[in-house]
Amino acid sequence: MTDCCIIRDLLPLCDDDAISEESRKIIEEHLENCSECRAYYQGIHRIPHTFHQEGDRGSYRYSDVARALRHRAILTHAAEAAMLAVSAFCIIKTAANTKETDKSK
Ligand SMILES: [Zn+2]
Repeated sequence: MTDCCIIRDLLPLCDDDAISEESRKIIEEHLENCSECRAYYQGIHRIPHTFHQEGDRGSYRYSDVARALRHRAILTHAAEAAMLAVSAFCIIKTAANTKETDKSK
């Protein structure tokens, strides 16, 4: 199982050609003999469908997927910050209106 964990960690590097030929051979031999890691490897190739148009599937790189995930996280945080700012503005405005209403009584 430890071998499987190591192999799965190295698969994205293998896809990006950022791995030695010796390591690539070890990975390829492992994939030939391990159906679970083969299924995992096929699974990580489905990820690009989430981020790319149909037809780009063969051109993705792990770094592209990581960049897309970071971009998505930044957009999510920006939307959360905007919602928080609007909520804070509404609370402050409501509090100010309440104060003015209390003063006029
Ligand atoms: Zn395996």
